[in-house]
Amino acid sequence: MPTNDATAATTIKPALRSVDDALDTLLAAASALPLPALETVALEHAAGRVVAQNIYAPCAVPPHANSAMDGYAVRIVDVASGQALPISQRIAAGQVPQPLAAGTVARIFTGAPIPVGADAVIMQERAVVTEAGVNFETVPQPQENIRAVGEDIQHGQCLFSAGQRLSAADVGLLASVGIAQVPVRAALRVAIFFTGDELVTPGEPLPEGAIYNSNRYFLRPLLERLGCVVTDYGIVRDNLAQTQAMLERAAAEHEVIITAGGVSVGEEDHVKAAVQACGELDLWAIAVKPGKPLAFGKITKHPASTAHQAAFIGLPGNPVSAYVTFLLFARPYLLRRMGVQNVQPTGLPLSAAFAWPKADKRREFLRARINQNGQVELFPNQKSGVLTSCAWAEGLVDNAPSQTIAPGDLVRFIPLSALVN
Ligand code: AMP
Ligand code: MG
Repeated sequence: MPTNDATAATTIKPALRSVDDALDTLLAAASALPLPALETVALEHAAGRVVAQNIYAPCAVPPHANSAMDGYAVRIVDVASGQALPISQRIAAGQVPQPLAAGTVARIFTGAPIPVGADAVIMQERAVVTEAGVNFETVPQPQENIRAVGEDIQHGQCLFSAGQRLSAADVGLLASVGIAQVPVRAALRVAIFFTGDELVTPGEPLPEGAIYNSNRYFLRPLLERLGCVVTDYGIVRDNLAQTQAMLERAAAEHEVIITAGGVSVGEEDHVKAAVQACGELDLWAIAVKPGKPLAFGKITKHPASTAHQAAFIGLPGNPVSAYVTFLLFARPYLLRRMGVQNVQPTGLPLSAAFAWPKADKRREFLRARINQNGQVELFPNQKSGVLTSCAWAEGLVDNAPSQTIAPGDLVRFIPLSALVN
């Protein structure tokens, strides 16, 4: 961005904020706001939503002791006698058994309830059926092949605490205790738009000097996967009045406005001035690469002129910067607004398969992958305009300021799977 450098030469450079400091400020601002309303959703729509109240198991799983095998329910003492044992009943899954008569066995199938009196199940492969009854090749251990009541979930156990975000497996767990309606936080309404005179929408011809708006097409699904309801206002031209009008319009009906582009210090960057004209702005230069400029603030003026305020997050325009800063800053902010406490991804210590001899003074988030040897490789071009690096990457290497890396060094690898869900 040559305009930045030209302007920077004539202004005093502010001290860069650390990533952690900027994130703390964002999360504190999010925590200070009221949570979205509580609403109830049907279980089939609960994945990705944030639980609004602790959820306790109304029954045990399994609700009754049952067989883990197709085979025979036995009394161990009878098997130990070495006698052939007659079959006194047949129990399939879903049936209700009789108590097991002493000196007999029950034919039983996977998932079927264990009859009172039986203390083990022997798999059918270990049984020989004769006219006199069943002989067994083995004497089982107590409770062998029996799934105990509550082995998975105990009655009354706290399954989820308020503020947990439900995965697909979590929703399965709720189904296993019969819960059909889930108390969750209402979706955040997020408005997005993209600034730039050069931007063209895919599907349209590309005039000279123009580029396609790529930021729109990753930002929207990332937000939707977070459970946000997105209003997409598309492209806004590099013009103060239009930018301000769009901010005010968006502020009336959304909790958060996220933009990309126009937050640098160039003459064509109007977002900051527009935010200041209808709200408050903190513009941060963050010691992060990619993505130094990140704007944060709020919009207080809008046509509805109620007390409603919309939070504002301005991402840098370079696609890689927008992608990475969304994941590092906007995502945790949005999750915290929904009441999620644990908003930080877990990093893995992995061995580098690359050298990074010229580290930046800023904390870097390098687009990376795990190779077949379990080591981390980098995408060869780490420039902030090269979106292929993000498409290629399976994770980010979180590299401390000025930290050079030699092959074999341990690096902190943050899997993207933890950030894009
Ligand atoms: P800006 O932050 O507006 O100065 O933009 C920085 C760089 O990112 C410029 O090269 C822009 O052309 C590019 N850019 C801005 N917005 C987008 C977008 N939505 N899609 C693709 N590139 C963009
Ligand atoms: Mg621009």
